[in-house]
Amino acid sequence: MDFGKAYRAFLDQSKTERECAAETIRRAEAAGYRNLNDVEALHAGDRVYVNTMGKAVQLYIIGKAPLEEGINIIGAHIDSPRMDLKQNPLYEDTDLAYLDTHYYGGIKKYQWVTLPLALHGVVAKKDGTIIPIVIGEDEADPVIGISDLLIHLSQQQLDKKGSVVIEGEDLDVIVGGKPLKDAEKEPVKTAILAILNEKYGIEEEDFLSAEIEVVPAGKSRDFGLDRSMILGYGHDDRVCAFAQIEAMLNIAQTPDVTCCCLLADKEEIGSVGATGMRAHYFENAMAEILDKCGVYSELKLRRALSNSRMLSCDVSAGYDPSYASVFEKRNAAYLGRGVCFNKYTGSRGKSGSNDANAEYVGKLRAIMDDNKICFQTAELGKVDVGGGGTIAYICALYGMNVIDSGVAVLSMHAPWEIISKADLYEAFKAYHAFLLHA
Ligand code: MN
Ligand code: MN
Repeated sequence: MDFGKAYRAFLDQSKTERECAAETIRRAEAAGYRNLNDVEALHAGDRVYVNTMGKAVQLYIIGKAPLEEGINIIGAHIDSPRMDLKQNPLYEDTDLAYLDTHYYGGIKKYQWVTLPLALHGVVAKKDGTIIPIVIGEDEADPVIGISDLLIHLSQQQLDKKGSVVIEGEDLDVIVGGKPLKDAEKEPVKTAILAILNEKYGIEEEDFLSAEIEVVPAGKSRDFGLDRSMILGYGHDDRVCAFAQIEAMLNIAQTPDVTCCCLLADKEEIGSVGATGMRAHYFENAMAEILDKCGVYSELKLRRALSNSRMLSCDVSAGYDPSYASVFEKRNAAYLGRGVCFNKYTGSRGKSGSNDANAEYVGKLRAIMDDNKICFQTAELGKVDVGGGGTIAYICALYGMNVIDSGVAVLSMHAPWEIISKADLYEAFKAYHAFLLHA
């Protein structure tokens, strides 16, 4: 229960990848981690972090063993499904002002209407100034949102397929309805621009160099009359990210093996781009660390990577009795039964999956049992019902052992997702034990 409370505080501060990265670095610095760029030489026991464009973070604790023998890595992603503002988002239509969006990641679009929504992000001015924006979280703030058709006129809409009941271009957010007196044209839009200019000093053109995300407004909540669960936005995958960060920050000693906590961006759109896991920031950081430990060579770097062990920490589909037909009960993840290992993911015959080695799974079973950690195993639904992927296969490219392990989620990718506090705590214990014993 206490751990769940701490997680909720973290989650409420981390509604975007940028906010999550900043919060992680704040916590790491408070725990004595230094920016790798500011460190000349590294020794066993040193704690450093790597900040990639403010959207991806790596934490390291240098261990006693030679790096070429491999390190222990836990990796999660800190981006979540949402709607991003377009480059030219603001328009007026029939006395209402709107912000146009392009959704990010896999969403059921009909879930995102008639909800209180908030804006989180940054505006980068031409002079290099970065203006942070958060509107809709403070109790005194207004919220924004997307309308849906009234039931009285919905006969045709309700005959549509679920995937097109609300379409991508329908995800336009209402932001205003009050005209500016004496404005020559588009008086409602002009009024909104005046408000933005007064509060943030930004102009319409500044949206061109902005990254503003539309997310559900409000805080996470205890869920269930027994408070056993948490309802929150972005459990996928900040629940694993939090368990990882806590696992790292709870290692007081100098570990035998170097520990690494990876927090990647862009997983929800294929791990692409400079901050996605497919970029080379992890490999580059390892090269820097070998160098600052005075042992760098191309061969030692490759050995360090291929000899490493990794838990790819991402959420699992929680078994949902209301939708039992898509699950296979003997190989499903259940809320409250502990951290969940997915030996493989993928779809249609394991396609696209990292399939962890049996020998590695055996070793992990021993670590879990030795440390009295509740774990379960699962795959993502019935064969041929659907599928998905994580960052596991990307790190496996180095030849290291990798397996998916995480927390089961109900309503995954919905604006408000549900996890079990017990699973969160077991994930924390599992990641901590893995870092020290793998
Ligand atoms: Mn995920
Ligand atoms: Mn996801």
